[in-house]
Amino acid sequence: MIYQMTYVSKVADGVTLSDCKAIAAHSEKNNARDGVTGCLMLCDGWFLQVLEGAIGAVNRIYERIIKDPRHRYPTILGAGYQMQRNFPVWQMRLVHVRDIEAIAAVIRRYHASSAFDPISLTSESCISLLNDPMALEDSNRKGP
Ligand code: FAD
Repeated sequence: MIYQMTYVSKVADGVTLSDCKAIAAHSEKNNARDGVTGCLMLCDGWFLQVLEGAIGAVNRIYERIIKDPRHRYPTILGAGYQMQRNFPVWQMRLVHVRDIEAIAAVIRRYHASSAFDPISLTSESCISLLNDPMALEDSNRKGP
């Protein structure tokens, strides 16, 4: 069994894409050490992150994360045990969604509304969304 936590937060003012890439790169190293995997989505000023691993390791990381000034209002959407990891090969994959319109149809599949309103997503819909690589890759290819 693996412990999994999903949360959302607002990206703090002044935090750039380059800062987010640095967070993901640093997280990859820390999480590899701690046996934690997951995915960090950056979309329309929101972070949406899934952390999975041993309960102690995930909680220790989350305790650090909530003190981080690079985001605000972290809100846990769900946490609990799963049979297996959803992101077994990613120590922390950064998914940057630039084109909200491009993923509206994908969001609609997992959520009643097509608006990206992460606070109202369930952790299950987040996992499904983050596991829809084709749609996310497609939206990533658009924009500068
Ligand atoms: P150090 O890197 O030495 O950091 C020490 C302190 O400096 C920490 O308090 C840190 O918050 C702060 N800090 C470091 N760089 C900056 C900066 N550029 N601006 C402001 N403060 C800074 N960490 C993980 O280990 N795994 C994750 O999966 C993970 N996901 C994250 C997701 C989000 C959305 C955010 C915002 C942060 C995430 N972090 C993650 C980073 C986490 O908040 C800590 O910064 C990090 O774990 C501390 O790493 P360290 O122990 O190596 O300390």
